[in-house]
Amino acid sequence: MSEPYLKIYNGQIITPYRIISPGTVLIKGDTIAEIKQGDIEVPGAVEIDAGGKYIAPGFIDLHVHGGGGHDFMDGNEAAFLHIAETHSRYGTTAMMPTTLTSEKEGLLHTLKLYELAKESNKKGAQFLGMHLEGPYFAMNQRGAQDPRYIRDPDPLEYKEILSKTNSISRWSAAPELKGGLAFGQYLKSKGILAALAHTDAIYEEALEAFENGYTLATHLYSAMSGVTRRNAFRYAGVIESAFLIDEMDVEIIADGIHLPSPLLKLVYKIKGADKIALITDAMRAAGMPPGESVLGNIDTGLKVIVEDGVAKLPDRSSFAGSVATADRLVRTMIQLADVSLIDAIRMITSTPARIMGVGDKKGSLLAGKDADIVIFDRDINIEMTIIKGSIIYKRAAGL
Ligand SMILES: [Zn+2]
Repeated sequence: MSEPYLKIYNGQIITPYRIISPGTVLIKGDTIAEIKQGDIEVPGAVEIDAGGKYIAPGFIDLHVHGGGGHDFMDGNEAAFLHIAETHSRYGTTAMMPTTLTSEKEGLLHTLKLYELAKESNKKGAQFLGMHLEGPYFAMNQRGAQDPRYIRDPDPLEYKEILSKTNSISRWSAAPELKGGLAFGQYLKSKGILAALAHTDAIYEEALEAFENGYTLATHLYSAMSGVTRRNAFRYAGVIESAFLIDEMDVEIIADGIHLPSPLLKLVYKIKGADKIALITDAMRAAGMPPGESVLGNIDTGLKVIVEDGVAKLPDRSSFAGSVATADRLVRTMIQLADVSLIDAIRMITSTPARIMGVGDKKGSLLAGKDADIVIFDRDINIEMTIIKGSIIYKRAAGL
């Protein structure tokens, strides 16, 4: 006997081009079978009445460290599964687990756990490959990354890591370091996205980096150079480079705190919805109540405080990570950056899918694509999350 169809009707369906209202999404197995204005008569289908709410592609988070009290660097497989489950309640259907700067052994161990967790992850957001954030960073732009582990790109080290795994999809580094361009070229040759991060590069270096594989700017504005002066002469930094190089993609922590309203508006005005990915960059306290928490590994990480919707160093001198969830990013862009719902959704669905090269299967509601779907109300409260055709989350007292 073949599986019944899953039919979601009476919703406002957000496609890349318009909102179909009322519309019906028909799912067969793990794939979208049909999208249609009005209703589709399907005898025997399992039916969900969307109650006039929005039906969008599942959210894709390209940069996330943790949530629900866990961090990907905790050193156990359960952490991966808990984080994936936590973020799925906020609409994320696919994510890139992200590391912090660490010793080689710590990275290799985390990669091994990733491979185990990818197999057993049935109740949370899917894993799109690992994102290594560091350790090849400019010391000057380390932010909350542990300085003990920061170093220049080491070909022996990164070639060894890459020879042991196929699970790395993205690697963030500072391209101006000694060996930084060769590193970018090597990543590109392996089909891995290189991203400019924690970097002090000036425009000339950023452009060269772009030509050598660094096509994405990691958390734009955070831990990167802007305009600097050297002996009275001004130099453009990575921020200006990301604006000036049209083809460069950028990601932003759109929690409304890391970047205030005018900067969100500025990035959107210059780069547009097709070049911006919204990311949470969330640490373990995402989806948890405020109070004390730890950035990085639960035993060896840094003590931080979560208040005002963000993690801070204990002396409150600096942010120490975001506690955002994907729904909040969409809400923030609409409320603080005056972005339309369609564009806000685009920046967390089709744009990140295209950046990571999975746009043929994910990121938009079209027949033939993966049935990764999220249903939410006008305030972006998540009602239901569907991953590859399975209902993973349903809000209590919801639909
Ligand atoms: Zn990060």
